[in-house]
Amino acid sequence: MSNASSYIRIDNVSRRYGAFKALDDVSLDISKEEFIAILGPSGSGKSTLLRLIAGLDRPTEGRIHFEGKDVTELAPHKRGIGMVFQEFLLFPHRTVRENLAFPLRMRNEAKGEIEERVEWVAGILSLSTMLDRYPSQLSGGQQQRVALGRGLVARPTLLLLDEPLANLDRELRQEMEIEIRRYQKQLGIPFIYVTHNQEEALSMSDRIAVINNGRLEALGERQAIYDHPQTPFVARFVGKSS
Ligand code: ADP
Ligand code: MG
Repeated sequence: MSNASSYIRIDNVSRRYGAFKALDDVSLDISKEEFIAILGPSGSGKSTLLRLIAGLDRPTEGRIHFEGKDVTELAPHKRGIGMVFQEFLLFPHRTVRENLAFPLRMRNEAKGEIEERVEWVAGILSLSTMLDRYPSQLSGGQQQRVALGRGLVARPTLLLLDEPLANLDRELRQEMEIEIRRYQKQLGIPFIYVTHNQEEALSMSDRIAVINNGRLEALGERQAIYDHPQTPFVARFVGKSS
């Protein structure tokens, strides 16, 4: 399934560990402005897929293209990707400003450029008045926004999120779902959002890709996945609430 206008094209990608296939012949097209959820149970291969897209790992078979260019062998820092993971991993003894600047310092950006980008991302995430605070002086939602900010500060052309809300309580999670969705629309870049949480996938995404045992089981508009699950596994998995 391949589409010339797709922004990201994953073509028949597999990742083996010895005889075990963590990902098995996955093909997926992602367009420039969509929010796509990769939904599946624990151990289904979701993080493996994100790592391949990020360039942190290489497929054993298949190719990955960004904007028509084959990036399968390209180093992670040359892919223009931002990443957000489950743990905040904010530096507790550094201010919000320093936390946000960290990815840019790693890239040896110029001081003025760093300041400009930190102000930009803080503006989007409503953190402008909190730049001199330490993480312990922020609410859980604000800490989460700093973590998002670190993924966005380098102005990526794609954001990968791996279960970023899994550690949050339900109320904060629902608040953040709405916010993250809003940032994606505002920035106009694709977000690839990995989750094992059916409600999260349903409430946030344009499309959902369901994976199980390393295989793509279903792909479609979020409501269509629920109304017409394409396999018995998908019917069971989206039918139960978490
Ligand atoms: P998910 O993110 O959906 O929970 P993962 O992508 O992390 O799942 O893992 C998928 C499968 O691949 C799991 O069975 C996991 O144990 C296996 N796996 C992941 N990384 C490795 C590795 N480096 N070596 C061996 N097996 C791995
Ligand atoms: Mg995972």
